[in-house]
Amino acid sequence: MKVIDLRSDTVTLPTPAMREAMYSAQVGDDVFGEDPTVNDLEALAAEKVGKEAALFVVSGTMGNLVCILTHCQRGDEVIMGARAHTFLYEVGAAAAFGGVQVRTIPNEASGMLNPEAVTDAIRGDDIHLPPTRLVCLENTHSRCGGCALSPDQMDSICIPVRERGISAHLDGARVFNAAVGLGVDVRELTRNVDSVMFCLSKGLSAPVGSLVAGSEDFIRRARKNRKMVGGGMRQAGVIAAAGIVALNEMVDRLAEDHANARLLAEGLKEIDGLDVDLEYVQTDIVIFSVVSDGITPVEVATGLEEEGVRLQAIGGRQMRALTHYGIEEEDIRIALEAFRKVMKGSV
Ligand SMILES: *Cc1c(COP(=O)(O)O)cnc(C)c1O
Repeated sequence: MKVIDLRSDTVTLPTPAMREAMYSAQVGDDVFGEDPTVNDLEALAAEKVGKEAALFVVSGTMGNLVCILTHCQRGDEVIMGARAHTFLYEVGAAAAFGGVQVRTIPNEASGMLNPEAVTDAIRGDDIHLPPTRLVCLENTHSRCGGCALSPDQMDSICIPVRERGISAHLDGARVFNAAVGLGVDVRELTRNVDSVMFCLSKGLSAPVGSLVAGSEDFIRRARKNRKMVGGGMRQAGVIAAAGIVALNEMVDRLAEDHANARLLAEGLKEIDGLDVDLEYVQTDIVIFSVVSDGITPVEVATGLEEEGVRLQAIGGRQMRALTHYGIEEEDIRIALEAFRKVMKGSV
């Protein structure tokens, strides 16, 4: 039985083209700046997101940390959404390694932050207050169901923030999903941020790696911080080669994942005992609720597992499914059939 693994888009396996590229990659010592494949990936990434330079990092978590370390000094304050991945799921790294205080403001259901709430949270010049240095946005927003913020929404936060001398960072782990979902060039989403991180290892299906991008000067300083956190890799071209394939070949096909997520969400909505707000299903993530009292989300997950369908309960009544490379339309139909079986008799 084929296992239909909808737990995350990080379970994607490298494509045959990636394996080929990895096998034949030209490599060198990247800490000396001598890995031609890493250099090519960084140049390609910078170009894709419209920045001067980019830096290959081990993971999204490392990318966000390196950016925060590069923007901030100890004792600085960073503003981000209360449901931001960086706040919830990155092990408190900004505080632990950077001595940075995170100040959260509420996310709207769409992942959006109220622009006025952001500027109101910027500290004044008072002897008692920590200096606000950075605002972090997230697009698409993971905990808000993969919702995409439009270029105008991004600008409405970033422009006033930067006018006040505060930097803007985008946690764009899935920023290519946002761009494809909205039908815009990713550069429209990154044009008013000082730095952006995005992942190769999620929907883009590369085995390892993320990138951060920004100005030449920012990336030069970020490179040193990457070394400090132990992220200086040597013949990293072996993995960067897969990243080049990811950026060249795997972006446009994200639309298939979005269509499959939509199909899944619409099917789940029809099943008694489940509920999903279709308005917030915009890319590859489907967050839905188990509203029946007869079964818990953990029991749903266990029941599905027996049917060969894997996904996660994420707290409260909520569950989460992600579509990705390797999941076909037919798999969605099979998954929905499994849901119907598991939910039957529980309502
Ligand atoms: C996955 C994710 C990260 C972290 O990436 P890792 O490679 O898992 O460390 C950061 N931000 C968001 C929004 C993510 O979804």
